[in-house]
Amino acid sequence: MDMKTPADHLDEDALILDSVDRFLATEVKPYVHDLEARDEYPAAMVEAMKELGLFGCLIEPEYGGLGLSTATYAKIIERMSAVWMSISGIVNSHLIMAMAVQRYGTQEQKEAYLPRFATGELRGGIALTEPDCGTDLQAIRTTARRDGDDYVVNGTKTWITNSYYGNTFALLVKTDPAANPRHKGMSLLIAEKGPGFEVSRKLPKLGYKGIDTCEISFQDYRVPVDRVVGGAEGRGLQQILGGLELGRINVAARGVGVAQAALKEAVAYSQVRKTFGKPICEHQAIQLKLGEMATRVEAARLLTYRAAEAFDRGERCDMEAGMAKYFATEAAVENATEAMRIHGAYGYSKEYDVERLYRDAPLLVIGEGTNEMQRIIIAKQLVERNPV
Ligand SMILES: Cc1cc2nc3c(=O)[nH]c(=O)nc-3n(C[C@H](O)[C@H](O)[C@H](O)COP(=O)(O)OP(=O)(O)OC[C@H]3O[C@@H](n4cnc5c(N)ncnc54)[C@H](O)[C@@H]3O)c2cc1C
Repeated sequence: MDMKTPADHLDEDALILDSVDRFLATEVKPYVHDLEARDEYPAAMVEAMKELGLFGCLIEPEYGGLGLSTATYAKIIERMSAVWMSISGIVNSHLIMAMAVQRYGTQEQKEAYLPRFATGELRGGIALTEPDCGTDLQAIRTTARRDGDDYVVNGTKTWITNSYYGNTFALLVKTDPAANPRHKGMSLLIAEKGPGFEVSRKLPKLGYKGIDTCEISFQDYRVPVDRVVGGAEGRGLQQILGGLELGRINVAARGVGVAQAALKEAVAYSQVRKTFGKPICEHQAIQLKLGEMATRVEAARLLTYRAAEAFDRGERCDMEAGMAKYFATEAAVENATEAMRIHGAYGYSKEYDVERLYRDAPLLVIGEGTNEMQRIIIAKQLVERNPV
């Protein structure tokens, strides 16, 4: 019988990381500047990511996925984000949807969906946020009313990543709007595009260009009842919040990638730009910045890997994921700002990568739970884990 040893796993991880590096160097990096400037969807990159198996990287091999660890996945996302953060979003919310089905779905749902999620044939994300609420998800107003063998969905979701080009979404709805507590009336549906599911408009954004983020509306949109995740109503909030822990580790990894890219640009530029007869990296004021930037990257990376490893061990890690997300994304914002300052006027130019990093980084402090909420989660966990 073939048995896998931990060393085999490491070899496989090295192989996939190598393939991702090659893909980024040849099929992404040369095109980022143009696609970003035109805010153009990277269709060819999406096809290449399907070939690499990235849409199934966390899906178990028995369903056609690569079955990678979260720690390896975090390294993939870090690498992607150091080159172009937008493409990490194409797989990230898709995999949060896939993980909700893998962790909480019925056997029929896993067999019907996971193989097609893994190939990217079905591709999408998570539809939670509404015009009136994001953080307070229990306040959502999208309803799913039972009608025979279907739910009839009405409502509006906004800021939904992958919703223009994608086709399937984990859709958070109220199946019992009067429930008390509110979360008991919330369910998660596997929603494939169809009549009544309309992408109302693409949202213009500061950064995170190329990737489609839209408002979507539902008007008497029908979903068969067997698409409620886990086969029972009332568990939707818990099912999607379980996935957000993974999402937070992923956003932390994006933060590491962006912070690292900003550092790399700053280290390079500071050696070629001269003022007062010497490269600016020899001025102490610049050295202080570089020293802080590099330390932030290392600390962010270690926190992120630590949270990913805890997640892989199946441990409760909301505090660790929260710390990683909070620290790494603030590091991305700080490093992007410092890289811009080190570049002087060139940092303000669209011709330099730091301008893009500066526009991309702020999303990270908002998405997958704002950084205000992360600190609140950390504090609550501190108290819970240290009772007196
Ligand atoms: C580019 C982009 C892509 C996105 N993609 C998706 C997606 O694919 N799917 C999806 O469902 N959503 C998506 N979102 C939405 C994102 O998840 C929400 O923006 C986020 O959850 C915050 O919600 P909000 O914007 O409604 O802010 P609000 O909840 O209105 O919060 C506003 C401010 O109040 C603070 N705040 C709120 N409550 C508290 C509290 N109790 N204590 C202290 N401070 C508080 C927040 O931290 C924030 O600073 C995306 C957003 C962006 C910008």
